[in-house]
Amino acid sequence: MASTLEGGCACGAVRYRLTSGPMFVHCCHCRDCQRQTGSAFVINALIETDRITLLAGEPRPVPVPTDSGRPHDVYRCAVCQTAVWSDYGRRPALRFVRVGTLDDPSALPPDVHIYIRSKLPWVALPAGVPAFEAYYSTRELWPAASLERRRAVLP
Ligand SMILES: [Zn+2]
Ligand SMILES: [Zn+2]
Repeated sequence: MASTLEGGCACGAVRYRLTSGPMFVHCCHCRDCQRQTGSAFVINALIETDRITLLAGEPRPVPVPTDSGRPHDVYRCAVCQTAVWSDYGRRPALRFVRVGTLDDPSALPPDVHIYIRSKLPWVALPAGVPAFEAYYSTRELWPAASLERRRAVLP
């Protein structure tokens, strides 16, 4: 990893560091992500919660409704409300870190584009990165080392 994977919220009250690279990076074009970000997609780095070191602040979980009905807590800075990561499905050992909050978001490009059935028509996807109408098979796409890490944190 060339750069230090540090990031934070808009006001600076929350600062964090990822102590390793993520298992995988999703670019999600689903309607939930579009609504919650007010944008075309979200970029999520999937990483073990214990590989996130809080340097400052304490993000607070805010539950949001989802199309699927599965629980989704968005962790936000208590001061400026910037969303820094998510817990999908109440899995405390796994976090989805919002790559746009990294000091250098270019450090973690997407490994996969998902839910492109609701991708905005003017977003052009890069050649060579897998893209799926909806979700995909983790087992088929993830590197073995990442699958191993995932098995270690998900019962
Ligand atoms: Zn803040
Ligand atoms: Zn999504």
